[in-house]
Amino acid sequence: MTIVGIVALFLLDDRMRTGLIVSFIMAIIALSSVVVTGYAGQVSLAQLTIAGVAGFLLGPIANTFHLPFPIAPLVAAICAAALGVVIGLPALRIRGLTVAVVTLAMAFAVEAIWFRNGDIVGTSGVEAPKPSLFGWDLSIGQGLEYPRVTFGVLVLLVLVAVAVSVALLRRSRLGTEMLAVRANERSAAAAGVSVVRVKILAFAIGAFIAGIGGSLLAYQQQTVTFDSYSAMAGVALFATVYLAGITSVAGGILAGVSAANGLIFIFVDELWSVSGWYVVVSSVLLIFTVILNPEGIVGPAHSVLANRRAAALRDKAKASPDAHATDAIPTEELPAQPRVLDRTGQSELILTDVSVKYGGAVALSDVSLDVPKGALVGLIGPNGAGKTTLMDAITGFADYTGDVTLSGSSMGGLAPHNRIRAGLGRTFQAIELYDDLSVTENVKVGRTAAVHRPDVKTEHTDIGHLTEVFELLGITEISERPAGELSQGQRQLVSIARALAGSPNLLLLDEPAGGLDSTESRWLGERLRRICESGVTILMVDHDMDLVLSICDEVHVLNFGELIASGSPAEIRSNRTVAEAYLGREAQVHG
Ligand code: ATP
Repeated sequence: MTIVGIVALFLLDDRMRTGLIVSFIMAIIALSSVVVTGYAGQVSLAQLTIAGVAGFLLGPIANTFHLPFPIAPLVAAICAAALGVVIGLPALRIRGLTVAVVTLAMAFAVEAIWFRNGDIVGTSGVEAPKPSLFGWDLSIGQGLEYPRVTFGVLVLLVLVAVAVSVALLRRSRLGTEMLAVRANERSAAAAGVSVVRVKILAFAIGAFIAGIGGSLLAYQQQTVTFDSYSAMAGVALFATVYLAGITSVAGGILAGVSAANGLIFIFVDELWSVSGWYVVVSSVLLIFTVILNPEGIVGPAHSVLANRRAAALRDKAKASPDAHATDAIPTEELPAQPRVLDRTGQSELILTDVSVKYGGAVALSDVSLDVPKGALVGLIGPNGAGKTTLMDAITGFADYTGDVTLSGSSMGGLAPHNRIRAGLGRTFQAIELYDDLSVTENVKVGRTAAVHRPDVKTEHTDIGHLTEVFELLGITEISERPAGELSQGQRQLVSIARALAGSPNLLLLDEPAGGLDSTESRWLGERLRRICESGVTILMVDHDMDLVLSICDEVHVLNFGELIASGSPAEIRSNRTVAEAYLGREAQVHG
């Protein structure tokens, strides 16, 4: 690609070469949208404005502080990154379309207050310096020289560096965390990901990249004016990136090629002089893309590659002696033996008078219980009894009164991701997996929690730990499949694996047997006992009474938000209050 770009720079005539150089620059700015929107899921319509900040600052920074190339554009990009974080701050509290509206409003504000303000930028715009390195002129040139190939090569090399960095970011831990935030902020937090940190970093990295692009655009235009960085042009560029494929590096580059004043634009204009219609045509195409193919133009190519990868993995799985593991969870029955609890040791979890109210309704009322270290404890109760609410209170997703203590430390005031990092693991009733990520990628997100724990050594054990978790849950064979393709039972196992990846001391499971038949849930029960024996304390909620009463060491029963019974499975089986709570609900339903 780089060689094709360089050859094209030499072969094309002046007008087309200018278009190609603009395409390279626009591709860099488009890649900033790939990071912010494609990876982290924050719809920012201000990326071109942020590029403009660097463009407008480039000249003053270079002149005032006598900074040469490439220091001046880097400092301008850092200033743009700072503004990008400010523009992104509202996104810490709001989500989705509102972020788009707020960033667009900020883009118009910056344009009106700064870019179009004659008092600040003068009437004829701001002069950009000429880039040169060790006396070597790298500028775009003037007159007959314009546009110089040297400048084109410089821009192309920067584009290649940015594209490679953005591709590497996608594979890094931060990249996976960004995708996790994009997919589901709640489950990202439950995997120990700091959603706030990830969003700020996405805005900062995106704005830095946009700033580099903005500086290059200033070098290309030589005199910086508001037209190139207007809020409306920013919206048009965003539409082009979305059209091309905002989730991938290839989409970002294609966006550059098809952006206004870029290569395709000039080419089409030379043939039919249709520049005025270009925006109209791309808007119509955008509407069709959103309806027919949300992943953009490069989407089908991605699907073909993903299908091939999935087919290759399926063939590999079929050839293996463990083939049954790819289609269903193993169903052999294994005996599960509850133990008598040793209550003399330390408690892993202590709840003291925990209450939760939703508006006026009391969902939990003064619940106090303790979970001994190393125990497998069940929490049951009829529908709406408050079981999930109790899990939400423990993990910090619900506001509560009372106290939650984990391994001797109070969790009061800690955000969900910090509770996870303190040693909690959690799965959700709705199995909030990231469907477009592979099983391994899903589980790796859960490793985030362990990375921040001083008591867990991760450097050498990451891969080994994941392999162990996969083997323990029997999901090694499906590790490369996209989570969206899995059966309900497999999804349960992957969500448990993700929680286990964080090396939790206490694992909270919300209906792990949901969607499994009785043989499968018995198999799962055996795995849960093994997890428990490996040193992880478990508190599980499930509607499968047979499972809970056969594997748990101790069971608590909730009804209408109150703890009505606690004891061994045998005690709970023979408890009249418990029987009445369940029968009472059934009588209400049938009556
Ligand atoms: P199920 O077995 O059906 O999952 P559960 O025992 O987990 O039920 P919760 O989901 O904890 O019960 O709900 C307890 C009570 O709190 C119910 O009356 C429910 O309607 C209410 N509730 C739960 N979440 C909310 C919420 N976000 N806002 C308002 N009320 C809620």
